[in-house]
Amino acid sequence: RFISLEGGEGVGKSTQLTALAQALEGRGLKVVVTREPGGSPGAEAIRKLLLEGDEKRWNPRSEALLFAAARSDHIEKTIVPALERGEWVLSDRFLDSSLAYQGEAGGLGIDAVRDLHRFGSQDFLPDRTLVLRLEDDAEGAARARVRDGNPGDRIGSRPPTYHAAVDAGFRAIASKEPDRVKLIDAGGTAATVTARLLYALGDLLP
Ligand code: C5P
Repeated sequence: RFISLEGGEGVGKSTQLTALAQALEGRGLKVVVTREPGGSPGAEAIRKLLLEGDEKRWNPRSEALLFAAARSDHIEKTIVPALERGEWVLSDRFLDSSLAYQGEAGGLGIDAVRDLHRFGSQDFLPDRTLVLRLEDDAEGAARARVRDGNPGDRIGSRPPTYHAAVDAGFRAIASKEPDRVKLIDAGGTAATVTARLLYALGDLLP
């Protein structure tokens, strides 16, 4: 099975990624943990282009194309081979980040970014997408701001309205694809949140 974990800034995504992988391994599953942008040598090279250096380097369309190119390589080189070996794949971000960040918040439109994915990756989708979110988005932004060195974190340069738009994007996607995309309350203790994630995978677990 292929699962993606999504969420805005400061919702505890990294902690939950590790916890969820351990929980799945505890059930006897072999789990490959991967991430976006990146997850294969070619896509990691594209990640550097996207996240390092001047953030104004790319316009929204070139940025969306780079994400789509990275994803296509990631799927072919890492995700599909693991699934063919019968392993589970857990990705830290996937298509839905592009739909929410570049599509909704970046102004390209969710449908336009989805079209890029149709072209780049034949609309290859996770079996389930878990979106961590805090009702109070300001709390997440504050948590992300105090967090130590995340080189990819570009939150400092993005206005609060951007993060609200990302959240609106995730909610729109979840309402369009309720079977695939589940919104998960990221409030409470880490263990509580992990339990919610596992519950949302209940029908997929062996
Ligand atoms: O996963 P993480 O929170 O470390 O994200 C790294 C950075 O990349 C974040 O600042 C996020 O906003 C950004 N990002 C993006 N578009 C994507 C995926 C990530 O702007 N499609």
